[in-house]
Formats: sequence, C-alpha cells, structure tokens
Amino acid sequence: MNPHSPRDERILVFAPHGRDAEVMAGVLRRDGLACETVDGFGRLVAAIGEGAGAAIVAEEALHDVDSAGLRTWLERQEAWSDFPFIVLLGKALGQQSGTRERLGDLGNVILLERPLNAQTLRSATVSALRTRRRQYQARDVLADRERTAANLHQSRQELVALNETLESRIDERTRALAQANDRLMNEIIERERVQQAMAQYQKMEAVGRLTGGIAHDFNNLLNVVQGSMDLILLMSKDEVAKGRAEIARKACQRGGKLTRQLLAFARNQSLDLRQTDIGVLFDGVRELVSTSLGSRIRPRFEVAGDCPPVLADANQMEMALLNLAINARDAMPEGGELVFVAACDQPSPGLLPPGDYVRIAVTDSGEGMAPELVAKVFEPFFTTKGVKGTGLGLSQVYGMAQQSGGAARILSEPGVGTTVEIWLRTASGIEDAEPAPPAHLPAVRQAARILIVEDDDFVRESMVSSLEALGHTVRQAPDGEAGLRALHAERPDLLITDYLMPGMTGAELMQRTRAMFPGLPMIIATGYADMKAIEQVIGDGVVLRKPFQLAELAVSVGQALDRTRQDCAH
Ligand code: ADP
Ligand code: MG
Repeated sequence: MNPHSPRDERILVFAPHGRDAEVMAGVLRRDGLACETVDGFGRLVAAIGEGAGAAIVAEEALHDVDSAGLRTWLERQEAWSDFPFIVLLGKALGQQSGTRERLGDLGNVILLERPLNAQTLRSATVSALRTRRRQYQARDVLADRERTAANLHQSRQELVALNETLESRIDERTRALAQANDRLMNEIIERERVQQAMAQYQKMEAVGRLTGGIAHDFNNLLNVVQGSMDLILLMSKDEVAKGRAEIARKACQRGGKLTRQLLAFARNQSLDLRQTDIGVLFDGVRELVSTSLGSRIRPRFEVAGDCPPVLADANQMEMALLNLAINARDAMPEGGELVFVAACDQPSPGLLPPGDYVRIAVTDSGEGMAPELVAKVFEPFFTTKGVKGTGLGLSQVYGMAQQSGGAARILSEPGVGTTVEIWLRTASGIEDAEPAPPAHLPAVRQAARILIVEDDDFVRESMVSSLEALGHTVRQAPDGEAGLRALHAERPDLLITDYLMPGMTGAELMQRTRAMFPGLPMIIATGYADMKAIEQVIGDGVVLRKPFQLAELAVSVGQALDRTRQDCAH
C-alpha cells in the first residue's frame, strides 16, 4: 500500500447517461484533480478496489444494478477506510424502489441535488478527498504502529531467547576461560620447572668444573708426595724417618681417594663397581666413623652371617656411610644410638625390580624428619643447617645407590629417629674381583729403557727418580711433541704418558706411537675417575690411576712389559 500512489487520489466518475460524466470530469480536471470516468457499475467496483480517492455516482446509474459486489467490498474495508461517495440525486429521489437502501449501503455519502453548479461539485469533491486523505493518514499511522509492534515483538522474542541461552553461554564462556587459564598455568609451571632444572644443571656444571680443576691439580701434588714417600721408604735406613714416611704415604692414599670422589662428582661419571664385602667395608670406616661421632655416640656394626658381597664402588660407599654417620651425629646433639646393619633382603615392590639385594640400614635415635622434609632431603644442596650444611651428603648417598643399580630410601619419624637404607645388588660370581694393590715393592725382573711424558714437573721428576730407584733407565719429556721427538731419537722399551696434558693428549700420543712402533708397551697415568672411557680410548695400554704408590707404578711397569713379552711369544 503506497500512500503516494496517484491512483489513491483519483476521482472516479460514474454517470452513464448523456455527457454528464465528461462535463464533471472536465470541471474537476481544471482544478488539478485526477479524474477518471467509468462506463459500467462492474468497472466502478473494480476501480474502487484498485484504489481511489472518491467516487461521484449519478443516482440513476444505481438503478437495476447488482450491488452485492460493492457491498461486500465496502464491508470488508479495512478499519481505517470509509470510502467516500458523492451521489448526484435525481429530481425524484426514492422513485425507484430500493434506492434509499442502496444509498445507505454506501455508508460515507455526500448527497448533491441536481441541477448542480460547478462550485458545489468542486467543494464536495475536495471535501470527500480530504476525508479520504485523513483516512490514508490513519492507515499510515496504523501501519507504523503495526510495524513498531512487530519490531517490538521480535525484539522481545530475541530478548527471551537471549535470556534463555544466557546462562548456558555464560557457563560455556566460563569453561573456556577456565581451560585457557589452566593451559596458561601449566605453561607457567612447566617453564618454571625447566628454568629450575636449567639453573640446577648450570650450578652442578659450575661446581663440577671448579671441583674437577682443583682435584686434578691436587691429585698431581699428592702423586709427588706419595712418590717421594715411596722413595724414602725404599732407600732410607732411618727407621724413624721410614715410620713417618709410612704415615705420610697412608695420608696420601686417603687424599687420593678423596680426590677421586671429587672427580667422580665433578664429572658425574660411572662408578667403579666391584665386588665388595660389607664386613670389610664396615671395618674400613669403623674408626673414621667413631672419631667423627664424638664420645656421646657409640656406633654398632652388624653384618648378617650369610650377607653376600655386593656390587659397589667401595670408596663411594665409604663416603656414603661417613655422610650418614655425620648426619646422625647432627640429629643427636645430646647423644644416642647409631646402628649400621647389613643383611640380604627383599625390596618392597616399587622400590626396585625383584632380585637379590643387600639392605644396608643406618638407624639413629635422633630428632627425625617430618614427611615434607623427607621428600626434599635427597636433593643436592638442600640443607636445614644453614651455612654449616652443604646439602650434598644425602644427594651423594642417593646418586651412588642409584648409579650402582640399587636404591636409597629414608624412613623417619619426628622425635623417634631416622633410618636411611641403601639397597645394593649382590655381586654374582667373582668376575669383578680386582687384586688389592700390593703393599710391598715387587722385585724388578728386568731393567728397561722407559720414556716418561708428563707436563707436571713435580710429578715427572718424582716418577723419574722412582723408576730409576727401581733400576730402570729413564728419559723424560714435558709434552706430547717433545715425547714424539724423543721417540724418534730412540725406541724405548716402554712409554709412560700422562692422559691430560696441554696440546697433545696422552691418548693421541699413544696413537701416534703405536703407528711408529707397533707393539710398544704403554702406560697411561690419569687422575680421572672414568676409567672405562679412558680404557676405550687407549686400547691395549695399561691404565695407572693417580695418585699411585711406587709399588703400583712398579706393578704396572711389570704388567706392561709382560704383556708385550707374551704377545711376542704368540
Ligand atoms: P647437610 O647435612 O649438609 O645438611 P644432607 O644432604 O646430608 O646435607 O642432609 C640434608 C638434610 O636432611 C639435613 O640438613 C637435615 O635436615 C636432614 N637430615 C639428614 N639426615 C638426617 C637425620 N639422620 N636425622 C634428621 N634429619 C636428617
Ligand atoms: Mg650431611
């Protein structure tokens, strides 16, 4: 329904007799009104239906027509519409039967009597059209109102739908946010964990390098002291001096053990696992433990009669037992009980895979630890002792047990005491047994020409005098290059070289020597704890662990010379 449609403004003129219609239309057109004449009642009804402003109808034209169609249309008009008719009356209104009723049916009617003057027609028409225009306005207002109502309805429905889904959408959004938050938290935790692990790794690296450097130099010094003591023992006739030298030599041995542990820690290397008897181990630490515990604590050592030997690095085990004893002492400032027990046992599931194990338990009656503490104390550098603690004692115990194929565990109750368990695998067979270093110098079976390559002057001099004291002819070189030159000058019977030297390493020198003189016996001396790795590099050479006793040097020299002799015999 277009309010500006020209059709809605047109005036329909229905006066079928004579020229009335044309005349009237002419008058109105001159006034600027849109006029259309229609030539039949049917046509009139159809035109009204199509849209018009008003209709001018001659009364006589309504005689003898079937007005049902018009009536129906008028009845069905919309609420705003009351279509205006102007009826031109004949001289004798109501002469025809039913004309009055018919006029009443029309509803909104202006009656004009004939004869008609132009002015009357004009003002009646304009008035009818004005009425019709007001109806159009009402129509537009209604349409507007309907549109608004429809919009309102739609908005209301949207609001209802929104309300209905709001809760589920809030839930959904909350869930999504929670998930995002979880992801973020996990990432933060993971990043912190990685950073902590990184920091821990760097700390261990730094400590390791520092320790390694010190231990290496210290090892060389010990070597010199020990070599000199060996010489005094060999040559001196003064029994008192020899006694002192023997004590110094033992101290060097202990120092050597210590530096080897430091090196092992520094380089995080594989342990020297060998068949170890717990009884012997306990005997070895008994005195040291007693001394470090003080007089208020009397340690007891108990080894089950059927306790088999275990696979362990004896030095590391000694250190572990000492660490545990010192921890127990710290936990019992007023004194108390400390028991070392070893027996064959079955580990509880989860601790270790099934197998044959020995359980070594160190139990004190000290202050004990709360469960939260137990969870942390194996960590390196964890201590509750402030500057007095290192936090490395239990981490050494833990690392050593793990690397030995065993495990470590703490059982503790605050106020009652603590048991630290070390579980170790039993040694199967005697495959790993190693002869103990000889306490006395073996007889020198054959004097040999020996070349020593060693960068440390002290160590080199000490080795030279030791070997000369054993009756060998010795030449020396301070590095690999000089060593090669000496080899070119004359083939020795044996090459002894240090492993770690500036420039060419001992391993490289051995390779080049082997190319020059295949089968030449060689000994490599090293303070490094990772013997297996070195053994791989140097092939069939003999490894001599620093610091060594003169007797050990003599044995290694004998072994190296023997090995070649056997090779030659084959
Ligand atoms: P440190 O002894 O240098 O503190 P450890 O690694 O040996 O480092 O021990 C870590 C911590 O474990 C100690 O600071 C102490 O709190 C606790 N701890 C260790 N052994 C015992 C024990 N036998 N009784 C009670 N607490 C102990
Ligand atoms: Mg400790």
